[in-house]
Amino acid sequence: MDAIIDEWQRDTDLVSPEIYREYLRDGDTRSLVSLQKLESGFERVVREIAETETMDSPAVWSVYNMGYIVKTRESLFSIDLVHRRAVELADKLDFALITHNHGDHCSSELYSALNKAGKTVISNFLDNYGATGKGAKNPVGGGFVVGEKTFKINDVEISTSLVDHNKYLLDFTTAFEIRVGNWKLYHSGDCGIADKLKTKWGRPDIWTFFPGCGINVADAVKKINPRKLVFGHMWELNHLSGRLNALLIKRAIEKAKSVNANVHLAFWGDRVDI
Ligand SMILES: [Zn+2]
Repeated sequence: MDAIIDEWQRDTDLVSPEIYREYLRDGDTRSLVSLQKLESGFERVVREIAETETMDSPAVWSVYNMGYIVKTRESLFSIDLVHRRAVELADKLDFALITHNHGDHCSSELYSALNKAGKTVISNFLDNYGATGKGAKNPVGGGFVVGEKTFKINDVEISTSLVDHNKYLLDFTTAFEIRVGNWKLYHSGDCGIADKLKTKWGRPDIWTFFPGCGINVADAVKKINPRKLVFGHMWELNHLSGRLNALLIKRAIEKAKSVNANVHLAFWGDRVDI
């Protein structure tokens, strides 16, 4: 695992926040491997969504940061999807979940497109006009979601709870438990304090976890103990401070593995459920 982490570190070191923002504006990868990976990863996800037949258990792809796409038998939805081309998926998505109000987790362009199309967006900060308005698909109730609620959209059950982003942004992030039949996914967004992490539906098959924001990784993994632990939000390109880099990733792997051996890394474009 170390070799691939070092390779990604070398590649992302070449992309400054300024270059990344210029790329967001013009789409030019400037022959930088990391930006090419962002583009090819997105294309791979779009292609695999179309090609993948889901049977008993859903398919999950990592796009970028804590952004994932989930395909079930009846639904296609995103969690924290952010990408230069995210809005291209608006037509295909049935609904979207957003953990918190930070730009690296929420694409306002995607939100507007979904809302306009009457599709449900569950978050703790955006009013959900689409779901409550005339012609809404999959209405889940009006307004934004704060605290513990459960929803059912098509074949997907969703349970929400609040976790702390850090010691200043308390109850700022919504954690989502997702259940499809017996299969369970937990997505805890940016959670920097392990105390409030919890799963009411029991041990998740997959936990898409951000081992950053200063969280005590061993405590967190002990609490949730998923069948498969997936690290995301590696090498945020928009800022250098707080970026989950090679050193921090390696340390977090070591800590997580002292509790749970099944640790995986979600690189951009990867399918993470298998
Ligand atoms: Zn974040």
